Amino acid sequence: MKIICIGQNYLAHIKELNSAIPDEPVFFLKPDTALVTDNKPFYIPDFSNDIHYETEIVLKINRLGKHIDEKFAHKYYDELTVGIDFTARDIQKVQKTKGLPWEKAKGFDNAAPVGKFVSKSKLPAMNNLSFHLDLNGKTVQKGNTSDLLYSFDKIISFISQFITLKIGDLIFTGTPVGVGPVKIGDKLEAYLEGEKVLAFDIK
Ligand code: MG
Repeated sequence: MKIICIGQNYLAHIKELNSAIPDEPVFFLKPDTALVTDNKPFYIPDFSNDIHYETEIVLKINRLGKHIDEKFAHKYYDELTVGIDFTARDIQKVQKTKGLPWEKAKGFDNAAPVGKFVSKSKLPAMNNLSFHLDLNGKTVQKGNTSDLLYSFDKIISFISQFITLKIGDLIFTGTPVGVGPVKIGDKLEAYLEGEKVLAFDIK
């Protein structure tokens, strides 16, 4: 399986990072070694002093697809959850300045914890999903998919023009405003439509 992540998909987050508004979806990949499941703890790696959480809705691809038309894209996933696109912000800043790839800042081991998947049939419309992250019991990020620059269907269609999507692939759909650092001892809890789907400790 592979993990594909969309960057810069919520306007307020683009502004907080002083990034430009993209004229098409921006994506990058994380290797399968980035995946963390079952609420296992995240260990801060020693190569960064500024690991940030980015709370994102994650789609799980359920059928093989290539050149998927946007109007059929909804058939390619039936489960979602919330995940954290962990980012070594200090490394990413250097990579951005030099125009280098982001993998070093985003593709490292355990940089993609994902929560328990929820069936689409149990959720409201895909363009009106709310999600949030609590850090040590306090809400630090809140998003709603009505604010997405590029919808889930648009993202799936766009990626599949370049990369074949396979069963089990995961798509991180972008973070809303409010990203910030984690430290040892922190507890992260992520919610989708009010249901806690992910909870883990920073070690
Ligand atoms: Mg992200």
